[in-house]
Amino acid sequence: MWWRWQQADGRMHAYDRTAVTVGPHRPFLALCGATVTPIDTDFGVTGWPQTTCWSCDHEVRVRDGFPIAEIPPLPDDTPPTPRSPSDGPSRPTRPPRPRQRR
Ligand SMILES: [Zn+2]
Repeated sequence: MWWRWQQADGRMHAYDRTAVTVGPHRPFLALCGATVTPIDTDFGVTGWPQTTCWSCDHEVRVRDGFPIAEIPPLPDDTPPTPRSPSDGPSRPTRPPRPRQRR
């Protein structure tokens, strides 16, 4: 698996672990394009993790070649950037999956 999740700046972001090393107070480039900085308490997380960054989730799915049916549109209705002609704007859209939290 080439990506990992890291809590930082109030979200769970994903990063390319082959290119990025994370550590406390060390800014890193998340897959969503944001540069985020985890702090000590973002490591060894207890309790519920923070909200998933859905842009990172989307990037993981796209880059990992998930079937279209398993790549939900981003919740903020931002159209995903087409990656190839066959993956363009004509793709069917589905409502975001309900978040399940127990
Ligand atoms: Zn992110």
